[in-house]
Amino acid sequence: MLYQRSSALFKEAEQVIPGGVNSPVRAFKGVGGTPIFAKSAKGAYVFDEDDNKFIDYINSWGPMVLGHAYDPVIKAVIEKAKLGTSFGMPTEIETKIAELAVSMVPNIDKIRFVNSGTEACMSAVRLARGFTKKDKIIKFAGCYHGHSDSFLIAAGSGAVTFGTPNSPGVTKGTAKDTLLARYNDIDNVKELVEANKSEIACIIIEPVAGNMGCIPPKDNFLQKLRNLCDDNNILLIFDEVMTGFRLAKGGAQELYKVNADIVCFGKVIGGGLPVGAFAARNEIMNYLAPIGPVYQAGTLSGNPLAMAAGLAMLTELNNDKEVFNRLAEKTEYLHKGCADALKKNNITHTINRVGSMISIHFDKDEVVDFESAAKGNNDTFKAFFHGMLNEGVYIAPSAFETWFISDALTYKDIDDTIAAVDKVAKQL
Ligand code: PMP
Repeated sequence: MLYQRSSALFKEAEQVIPGGVNSPVRAFKGVGGTPIFAKSAKGAYVFDEDDNKFIDYINSWGPMVLGHAYDPVIKAVIEKAKLGTSFGMPTEIETKIAELAVSMVPNIDKIRFVNSGTEACMSAVRLARGFTKKDKIIKFAGCYHGHSDSFLIAAGSGAVTFGTPNSPGVTKGTAKDTLLARYNDIDNVKELVEANKSEIACIIIEPVAGNMGCIPPKDNFLQKLRNLCDDNNILLIFDEVMTGFRLAKGGAQELYKVNADIVCFGKVIGGGLPVGAFAARNEIMNYLAPIGPVYQAGTLSGNPLAMAAGLAMLTELNNDKEVFNRLAEKTEYLHKGCADALKKNNITHTINRVGSMISIHFDKDEVVDFESAAKGNNDTFKAFFHGMLNEGVYIAPSAFETWFISDALTYKDIDDTIAAVDKVAKQL
């Protein structure tokens, strides 16, 4: 494949945008080479500025669970735009999407919309601190909750891809209130709670981690966290920015039958427009301004175009009784095909999968936390990434990311992907 126009556009972008990108993982730094510039996308495919076509396994890092340029979403946005793009006043559609989200997700009474997953998690932690009147938080190494200061401590995703999991610019004062635990290690979390008795406001977790590849919770880890939180007056925050409206209608809470105290959303909830949200039961949500003391706000929060896209997306997911099963079945088929192809070619690997999240790790051992994820062979990953790209399959340009499966993928697309894995594996 040729990437001439993408290369030229990247050079131009580098002059006026730091690193040529507005979000670091797009830059291909982790895998080398020049990022490809998207021109358009439809269904399961993305087309670049050189008119190359790719089967897309990033799907805008998750939002496009039903495929790109999904007709009901596009139509809703166009119709809304004709009426004005922002008012800074309440609109009816905000209540409509809130009602629908509250009806789909277990254990929440109220939801507040923001503009990104970062804002959702940042606000959720402030709310937890205000509600419990405690300062410290526990997060897990390799989990990513956006780029707000408290979370850039052993963060996953781009932060680890670029070797800055603890970012300069985060003050020592902020960092000291973030305690770090090992994913899937309840004893480690218990030790931290013991050592910081009565100081911990919340534990925030990706209920299925997606920012160190895909890592499922093991041995009832989520329920054990729930119990620990109950025993110690700590709020449990599920960061469902990736898992929400993707693993099930009600996200990981529904899938694992574990209730969180605050739930964060992003990605799918906005149908591809900039939306995040956080939600909880009344007792907690009523702590928020304007009725409660914890301040949180946004000029563009609940933006009509974003709400129209989100409402169209959630409506489709709510009405389609089979969509989450279909997504899981497609992903299982992909899993089996990739595993067979890699095995046949003697490539050491481990594949993790939950619902429509899946990742290939180039290591023989089980991947259960950041340490085991980081052991994967990054040289093999780089070669695999570029090989797949040349075969017309676009996966995330970092070993520390999950693949996101969309329902627009056909079994033919998946067979083509498996054939590409087989071909690329021969060259590894
Ligand atoms: N939480 C999780 C689990 C995420 O994966 C991300 C983004 N990948 C975020 C929070 C931050 O969301 P955003 O990029 O929309 O700020």
